[in-house]
Amino acid sequence: MKPPPVRYARATDAREAVALLAEHGSEAKVLAGGQSLVPLMSFRLARPSVLVDINRVPGLDTVATDNGSLVIGAMARQRDVELSDVAAAAVPLLPMALRHVGHVAIRNRGTVGGSLAHADPAAELPCLVAALGGELEVDGPRGTRTIAAQDFFAGTFTTALEPDELLVAVRLPRLPQGTGVAVEELARRHGDFAIAGAVAAVHLAADGTVDLVRLGASGVDSVPVRLHAAEAVLAGQAPTAEAIAAAADTVPASVRPTDDVHAPASYRRDMARLLVERAIGVAVHRSTERSGVRA
Ligand SMILES: Cc1cc2nc3c(=O)[nH]c(=O)nc-3n(C[C@H](O)[C@H](O)[C@H](O)COP(=O)(O)OP(=O)(O)OC[C@H]3O[C@@H](n4cnc5c(N)ncnc54)[C@H](O)[C@@H]3O)c2cc1C
Repeated sequence: MKPPPVRYARATDAREAVALLAEHGSEAKVLAGGQSLVPLMSFRLARPSVLVDINRVPGLDTVATDNGSLVIGAMARQRDVELSDVAAAAVPLLPMALRHVGHVAIRNRGTVGGSLAHADPAAELPCLVAALGGELEVDGPRGTRTIAAQDFFAGTFTTALEPDELLVAVRLPRLPQGTGVAVEELARRHGDFAIAGAVAAVHLAADGTVDLVRLGASGVDSVPVRLHAAEAVLAGQAPTAEAIAAAADTVPASVRPTDDVHAPASYRRDMARLLVERAIGVAVHRSTERSGVRA
């Protein structure tokens, strides 16, 4: 199927994009990489009357460190971030998670901001941003604002963005040197959205106890889930197999999956527990490898 007729406007800077969004309100949609929006339009699941193309807006595709954070412009292509040395050094979880997003052809066009604004609860980037407690920088007719990840993802394909607001960047805390990271997923085929997924980042103190742990789960709720209860079990503890299992045991109560054609809720809940346990184990192992600390 082809998308229905739609008016097209190309913004030359962020102010113009915001002005166009303000002019057309909920009739308008931002066009970034088009990898989610265009298929939705072709299936008539999205019917904007105006597309505001931000592909030529300068300055929205930067990947840079700033004051202990990694700042990624909304129009940074997923593939460019996956291959960025700056991103890999600051947040090594990023390239690892991005390798699970669709296929290279999709990541060549798909943008970081597009994935976050689309807010698919099974997607990798929203899960990573939620787990790391990232912040979303937004521009709009009422000025700029910063939204914490926990407030940004409001439901399936729903965010705190107003129709006339533009996501301009995401800010992620830099992970300390020696942090071990892992992404574990269950998908039917390579490149498919995961049925369930988990991300983990673990850093060990010199005495081998956990001094930083960030955990997230995808595909098991209407929003990406930061697993605070599991993090609390591990924090300050030696990451033994028993401690990791105890942390994973908190996961089923932290998620609210639903049944769908791919899997029943109970299966997703069980898989989330298992994938989180695996991800923590791998992250701990990588952390000890990178830092030389014995777990
Ligand atoms: C076959 C296939 C497989 C895929 N598999 C995966 C997968 O496994 N994991 C995964 O995470 N994703 C997957 N995707 C989705 C892909 O990652 C998309 O690139 C991404 O979800 C959307 O990014 P985009 O830049 O293409 O955004 P678009 O499609 O252009 O936009 C998506 C939505 O976000 C809005 N938007 C975009 N940018 C902004 C902005 N700056 N401010 C405000 N609103 C904005 C748009 O208006 C639209 O509503 C897949 C896509 C395809 C086609």
